[in-house]
Amino acid sequence: MTSNNIIILTAPSGAGKTTIKTRLLAEMADILSFSVSATTRKMRAGERDGVDYIFTDEPAFKEKIATEAFVEWEMVYPGMYYGTTIEELQRIWHAAKTPLLDIDVKGALNVKKKYGSKVLAIFIEPPSLEVLKERLTKRGTDNPEQIQIRIDKALEEMKYRKSFDKVVLNNNIDRAVEDTMILIRDFLNNC
Ligand code: 5GP
Repeated sequence: MTSNNIIILTAPSGAGKTTIKTRLLAEMADILSFSVSATTRKMRAGERDGVDYIFTDEPAFKEKIATEAFVEWEMVYPGMYYGTTIEELQRIWHAAKTPLLDIDVKGALNVKKKYGSKVLAIFIEPPSLEVLKERLTKRGTDNPEQIQIRIDKALEEMKYRKSFDKVVLNNNIDRAVEDTMILIRDFLNNC
């Protein structure tokens, strides 16, 4: 197994990505480490600075863009910036682990372009738009307007699923976690 690989998990909001991510990080803790992104969005209840994200303000984020601290960055939602820092990837590689990136479609494709065959980019597909809407509503973290923005983005992101290395359909969470773990093990074993 060689080092400096990257695993990317991308999915429309509400596709079950967070659950899959949490389970992967628990079950593959000796191999994977979560790549903590920087963001300008507000911290949600239960989130921790430096663990879920590095929460920052727009001037500090723009300073990082100017100093080329990011491998990729995007304004994922209007006025909300998110980015993966080179420093974070290196921290994980130095710990002899593989970073697990939870980033959007554009960010994923940019990282893929930059790091090529060192990257396994996985797209988690929701079973249907109805299920997606239901999950976002039940989650209760967004108001109806924000939910609509996330649904519009999901529809846009679905168009890019074919650009990913692998697609995992999440109509059963246990099955989706298992499928994803197999893909990651296969990829890392063949690097
Ligand atoms: P949330 O606000 O729900 O935590 O995340 C919103 C979206 O931003 C998710 O699709 C997540 O994958 C994406 N995201 C999180 N961090 C990054 C990042 O560093 N870069 C990019 N491009 N997207 C990110």
